[in-house]
Amino acid sequence: MFPVQATLENATIQFYINPGIHPRPVREMQEQKTFRCRDLGLACEFEEKAENENELMKRVEGHVQTAHQMNLEHPEVQEKIRKAMK
Ligand SMILES: [Zn+2]
Repeated sequence: MFPVQATLENATIQFYINPGIHPRPVREMQEQKTFRCRDLGLACEFEEKAENENELMKRVEGHVQTAHQMNLEHPEVQEKIRKAMK
């Protein structure tokens, strides 16, 4: 019984301490790549973030295809977008 109680107490303590240590949501901390249409020289305020290039590509492809008529089936178009990611 004692080890179980100790574990539960630690879990409770962790629960109260963690919000102060990590005030920012985990999701936001994982987003390391940013794409802006402006970086492609487009007069557009679109901006998207994701945790990696592939995820970011999935999020921006719908926008660039419909708003800017870019065909992502062309490797050079994908390359252009990847290079604009920061
Ligand atoms: Zn755009």
